Amino acid sequence: MASLCGRTIFQVSRRTFSRAAVLRQKGFPDPLELATGLEKQELLARQAGNDDPFMMKPLRRGIGTKDQPNLVPSAFESRMIGCVCEEDSTHVTWMWLHEGQPRRCECGHWFKIERKQPIIIPEEYMD
Ligand SMILES: [Zn+2]
Repeated sequence: MASLCGRTIFQVSRRTFSRAAVLRQKGFPDPLELATGLEKQELLARQAGNDDPFMMKPLRRGIGTKDQPNLVPSAFESRMIGCVCEEDSTHVTWMWLHEGQPRRCECGHWFKIERKQPIIIPEEYMD
């Protein structure tokens, strides 16, 4: 009885060690091979040199006049933006921007949507 228990434990532990050896030989797969859908599109865009595929990075304001508004990239008809009106301000003024309707922040800067192409996901990546 005691030897049977010992054999069982030995077999289980031997199997675990052999899996670990296989993992060490092959290593971990490339994350691009495991990713699907939007995550894969993001990885492909970053690989192609686009480090901001969803246009989420903060933008520096330009002149921001009515004739030369700050252009805000958007893949949609509307986008919510936040303006830090003064450099040291801890308050963000949030507002909706709609395509074709430039909008003036309370600090005087104008903003306008600039349509960008959204990330296109080929059907083979859709689940
Ligand atoms: Zn502002």
